[in-house]
Amino acid sequence: MTSTAQPGSPWPRPSRPRLPARAAYALHTLLAANAVYRRLASYLERRPTLYRWFTAGERAGKEALFGCRMCGQCALPATAYTCPMTCPKQLRNGPCGGVSPAGRCEVYPEMSCVWVTAFDRAERTGHSGDLDLLQRPLDNREWGRSSWVNYWQGRDENLWTGATGDNPHPSLSPVSGPAQW
Ligand code: SF4
Repeated sequence: MTSTAQPGSPWPRPSRPRLPARAAYALHTLLAANAVYRRLASYLERRPTLYRWFTAGERAGKEALFGCRMCGQCALPATAYTCPMTCPKQLRNGPCGGVSPAGRCEVYPEMSCVWVTAFDRAERTGHSGDLDLLQRPLDNREWGRSSWVNYWQGRDENLWTGATGDNPHPSLSPVSGPAQW
């Protein structure tokens, strides 16, 4: 986690994802790391101009859908696709003590706490267990870099862990439960 706004990046405000959680989990299966994506990631990293264009596309898409701030180490698969970096305190392991009984953000009371949104989305899609995973501290050197390239290159493998340290990845099992939102 980090407690400062990043250079060139506006101070975070809670963002409500525009993509339903079910659709986001489905999209993840399309983008799941494999040898082809790994080769693409290596190719992009050897060509700075292409890498910049690719990263700009990622930024545009994820900013529109999730309020992404390009931390470069994406927590979305473990947070029901709710970006924790849009929390004004940028908390990656659950809400602060200031969240109101109605689930409102302490800093922006007109907005829902991103962690309340994450819990709701995880519960509705059968992924509540993902929120038990412990997010490790963010490497601030990765801000502005492509989280997709980092993921495909295997750099996200230790981004989070289970309480016992033996479950480094969240379940991406098929979703279940009632209607998405
Ligand atoms: S890359 Fe970082 S800032 Fe962007 S959606 Fe993922 S967690 Fe949020």
